[in-house]
Amino acid sequence: MRIGCHLSIAKGFEKAVLVAPELGASCFQYFTKNPRGFRGAKQLDRVDAARGVAKMKELDLVAIGHAPYLINLATPEEELFGLSIDALVQDLVIAEARGTYGVVVHCGKHKGQGEAYGIERMHQALRSVLEKNPTQNVQILIENTAGQGSEVGYTLEQLLAIVEPFDRSHVGFCFDTQHAFAAGLLEPENPRDFKGFQHPDFMARLKAIHLNDSKIPYAGRKDRHQRIGQGEMGAAMLQNILTDPRLQEVPFYLETPVDDERQYQEEIAACRNLVG
Ligand SMILES: [Zn+2]
Repeated sequence: MRIGCHLSIAKGFEKAVLVAPELGASCFQYFTKNPRGFRGAKQLDRVDAARGVAKMKELDLVAIGHAPYLINLATPEEELFGLSIDALVQDLVIAEARGTYGVVVHCGKHKGQGEAYGIERMHQALRSVLEKNPTQNVQILIENTAGQGSEVGYTLEQLLAIVEPFDRSHVGFCFDTQHAFAAGLLEPENPRDFKGFQHPDFMARLKAIHLNDSKIPYAGRKDRHQRIGQGEMGAAMLQNILTDPRLQEVPFYLETPVDDERQYQEEIAACRNLVG
């Protein structure tokens, strides 16, 4: 079973690959570029990427990229819409060079245009991204939201509707436990009752889990991660998810709010303890 965490690539991609096993991580996530901006993206260092890929194979690691938060695939604003599409295409290229199997992107915000509009706009955006996508092996992984503000993608029905027109090999899911808890999808007592875990299309597309505890109570509709066992979800609930036999093949990635990424060593060890 793969458990890992988000890692900084500020010192290079290869460096992150080498840090992962030191923390006990068998998978990791990185930001494809500055998470809060579109412009000023550093030139992709292909030598560093190739070295990282070779080390990943040697160390039996897998990785995913996370797209910038500014991307909004459901926006009614044409300029932001175009920038979002181009940014995601670029992220797929970056991810492929780094031997990464997926790029996580959040569901969009419709900004008052309504949920049906938001989903249709995401179809339009994803179609455009896939048309321009020059990569072969990188999947777009749509992340469920907490349902904050005008976000779409906080119910199973919406998530399935967003990916429906697209082939599974191109568009999959990343499932964030904190967002799902805040959206009311993962119930405190019975997280395994989430209908997605029994849904063939959802499960076939599920390629990553963001394992986070929550600062926000159940159904609180806000995106606020907490460290494992220290939040409103708690260790028992997270254990219930981690040990679900249906999820054993899916890599788990921690995005908990640590002060220093070295602390992920404790977080990952805590998860391994919960797995038993
Ligand atoms: Zn997440």
